[in-house]
Amino acid sequence: MPSLPKPVRRPWQPAPAKRVYEQHTARSPEYGTARWQRARAAHLATCPCCVECTKQGRTTPATVVDHITPVRLGGAFYDSSNYQSLCRPCHQAKSASERLKTPKGVGGQNP
Ligand SMILES: [Zn+2]
Repeated sequence: MPSLPKPVRRPWQPAPAKRVYEQHTARSPEYGTARWQRARAAHLATCPCCVECTKQGRTTPATVVDHITPVRLGGAFYDSSNYQSLCRPCHQAKSASERLKTPKGVGGQNP
């Protein structure tokens, strides 16, 4: 049976964009661990609604457990008091605003 040719990576073309999960696991391999999956599931079971939507008077199911203080800015990864439930649009908006912040001690470098 003939097989499809492998996609050719041309150096002059930009690399394909990584998915959000891959970006997270690239930054912190902890996101791929069973411990994180358990902590995430436990938090979503306790707080099933998006906290940002709730502040605006909407009831939206949360799908993302967000670190209130980002890990790259010194937030504790497994501290449940640093977790908040968010829906994907709210998490993307928060992440976008956090990209503008500078990590401590890194002298203005943003990922
Ligand atoms: Zn939301």
